[in-house]
Amino acid sequence: MSALALDDVTVSYDGVRAVAEVSLALPRGEVLAVLGPSGCGKSTLLRAIAGLELLESGRVLFDGADLARVPTYRRGFAMMFQDGQLFSHLSVAANVAYPLRLRATPRAQAARRVSELLDLVGLPGYDRRDPATLSGGERQRVALARALAGDPRLLLLDEPLSALDGPLRERLATELRAILQATGTTAMCVTHDHDEAYSLADRLAVMRAGRVIQEGPIASVWRAPVDTETALFLGYARVLADKAAMTFRERVPIDALRATGDGGPRSAATRPAPAIALRRSALSVADRGPLSGTVTSARATPEVVRLIVEIAGIGEVDAVAPLRRRGASGVVEAGPAVGAEVHLAVDTTRLAVISTSLD
Ligand code: ADP
Ligand code: MG
Repeated sequence: MSALALDDVTVSYDGVRAVAEVSLALPRGEVLAVLGPSGCGKSTLLRAIAGLELLESGRVLFDGADLARVPTYRRGFAMMFQDGQLFSHLSVAANVAYPLRLRATPRAQAARRVSELLDLVGLPGYDRRDPATLSGGERQRVALARALAGDPRLLLLDEPLSALDGPLRERLATELRAILQATGTTAMCVTHDHDEAYSLADRLAVMRAGRVIQEGPIASVWRAPVDTETALFLGYARVLADKAAMTFRERVPIDALRATGDGGPRSAATRPAPAIALRRSALSVADRGPLSGTVTSARATPEVVRLIVEIAGIGEVDAVAPLRRRGASGVVEAGPAVGAEVHLAVDTTRLAVISTSLD
């Protein structure tokens, strides 16, 4: 049985639906990421689960029990937000101990638990620090330790890393996942960042305009987005449709493209060709490959040269060329220049087949 189950949950503000008929199941010990653009209803959904919003209809269940009459503080859930919301007048240790104090945990036991939790989040010895002296990343670690202190049966995370910048966010996402796994925490994290969702979660639900558009194990959603908009939101750089998709499939060995769905009741003849979504690194310059075309743009980055290549019958696609370093000095040779003819190899693990035709 799922730990958390949402059954047709709808939440409205003044008659306007912010969350519409959302059904989701989250197994115990797993992390579910809810990914969607700003304003699509993510925070509203989390608040509804926490008991902070009234449901217009539907049910929130935990271990099979309907929570309709269970107030927020008795649900056994913890929440964590983008800005941590630490108590500024309390030390780090007192912040982390807060849920323990609410339960009147004996002092010595609470102190032991606080130091365990600070170790867990990578802040040993931070006990006496004032939250105002912490970096953004450190504040979020303290907020996480505090959220875990009460041994929540469900942790609800609302854009927990969104206030942090690039490399730190990536590192913390990986650490957060490791901590949730090590503690066996069942968690639901909402975010607008596909990389964050990918690093954190076992399962993924894609939300748009209040609705869950697609849900499943993270790898399956990534491999087969339900439509173009979802693919682009998942970070695919380009989606080939119609003729371009057909030409692509003619040139790239068809069995290398994972088939998705069973084609439904329509015959193959009437079904539109599935679209092909390409990540930026799906195509790379090689000595030979199934595709070839003309470079229309080339931009060097520290790791690769990013190209746009015009392929007859397909159109412009993104591709990468390796940086070639020469000699001990490591001088970088220019990659293919604009106008060059290149062959492209295809990494089929970096593309997805969109079978929008199945409805
Ligand atoms: P997200 O977290 O995905 O950015 P929200 O759940 O915050 O989205 O908001 C979803 C929609 O509900 C938005 O259109 C927002 O303006 C609206 N909304 C959120 N909170 C309230 C509120 N308290 N009163 C009225 N409308 C709200
Ligand atoms: Mg929000």
